[in-house]
Amino acid sequence: MPHIVVIGAGVTGLSSAIALQEKGYTVSIVAKDLPLPSEAIQTVHNLINYTSPWGGAHNRWIPPPLGSVREHEWSVTTFHRMHALSRSNAEAGITFMKGIEYIEAPGPEYADLTEQRARRELGMPGWRRLTKAEFPDERVKWGCEYDTWCVNPMVYCAFLLRRFVARGGKVVQGEVREVEEVWAMKLDLGKVDGMVNATGHGFGDKDMFVTRGQTCLVANTCDATVTRQNADGTWTFCVPRNFEGGTVIGGTKEPNDWNTEPSLEVREKLLSMFAATYPKILGEKREFQVIRDIVGRRPTRHGGPRIEVEETRPEEGKVGKVVVHAYGLGGRGYELSWGVAEEVLDLVEKSVPLQSKL
Ligand SMILES: Cc1cc2nc3c(=O)[nH]c(=O)nc-3n(C[C@H](O)[C@H](O)[C@H](O)COP(=O)(O)OP(=O)(O)OC[C@H]3O[C@@H](n4cnc5c(N)ncnc54)[C@H](O)[C@@H]3O)c2cc1C
Repeated sequence: MPHIVVIGAGVTGLSSAIALQEKGYTVSIVAKDLPLPSEAIQTVHNLINYTSPWGGAHNRWIPPPLGSVREHEWSVTTFHRMHALSRSNAEAGITFMKGIEYIEAPGPEYADLTEQRARRELGMPGWRRLTKAEFPDERVKWGCEYDTWCVNPMVYCAFLLRRFVARGGKVVQGEVREVEEVWAMKLDLGKVDGMVNATGHGFGDKDMFVTRGQTCLVANTCDATVTRQNADGTWTFCVPRNFEGGTVIGGTKEPNDWNTEPSLEVREKLLSMFAATYPKILGEKREFQVIRDIVGRRPTRHGGPRIEVEETRPEEGKVGKVVVHAYGLGGRGYELSWGVAEEVLDLVEKSVPLQSKL
């Protein structure tokens, strides 16, 4: 079977590697960083560019025209796959629960979002518009709830990695300086026939930038994943990680900000704003139990994620080389992961068919 190398062991690389493996490809992962228990990551500095440990991570629907049709389809695909995984593998770190959204200044696009359209046309189960009486305060002008999922990121990614290895995949920890380097690598599974670039940020792509996110991990549990868009453009949200992983309270979205240090002032603001929106998170003790601050960098791309094939022409007497790019997932890497993985598989199949050991 053709041998595909996936560069990257974040949620994008791991999901893509498993999708390829399930189809019958021989797959290796080469990655600088591998999933670790969150509790063992002492400092963000050496791992800050590996985004997957720092995500929430939940699925928040962004249907068209609020977001692109393509990304919405990926999120629906991911939703179904997460549902199946949560049923078959309780240890995968996935929890299904209600998602609640509150918006202070909704754009005109929200007017078209009816229950019928949301559930039947857009495939968002359990979607319901909230009544005014259900809003937390008068500044909220629009709200909805729906069925959704959250993952404990490193429990989930470690599960994917274990599944990949148990099914015959090989993992090499190391940095790739240029895509070209991979073609020359001596790997256990033999010569490389194709490659997937799931490095988060790509190699020197001028359209890439980081979107810094500061959040705070608390030990409090929560019965829903709640997101509030404030009129001044800021966000207030919580993502329950479960599996003893606490709940993420967020969060900032700061384009091109490379600051690694969390601000105590920002932490206090995030916590007080969330408590005002959803007071029941405070529980009987009426307080947050802070575990740690989190700073992460969403790998964001002007024009959206790059999921496409790049094929170099064969030189005389040699075969062409196929690279499928799958990076620039920004703040949506988890919620789009299985849709992206299926697209990666589709692109690999077209360029390196299963029957074509080169
Ligand atoms: C605060 C915050 C909250 C978020 N919340 C959510 C959420 O609720 N829902 C959601 O869907 N997403 C969320 N995200 C976004 C999500 O975490 C990312 O989109 C996702 O983790 C990106 O995954 P990735 O696999 O593409 O990249 P990464 O996780 O960055 O993985 C990249 C992989 O490539 C490897 N790599 C990179 N360069 C090289 C190289 N040169 N050689 C070898 N290996 C290399 C790395 O070591 C790593 O293994 C959040 C992000 C942040 C920061």
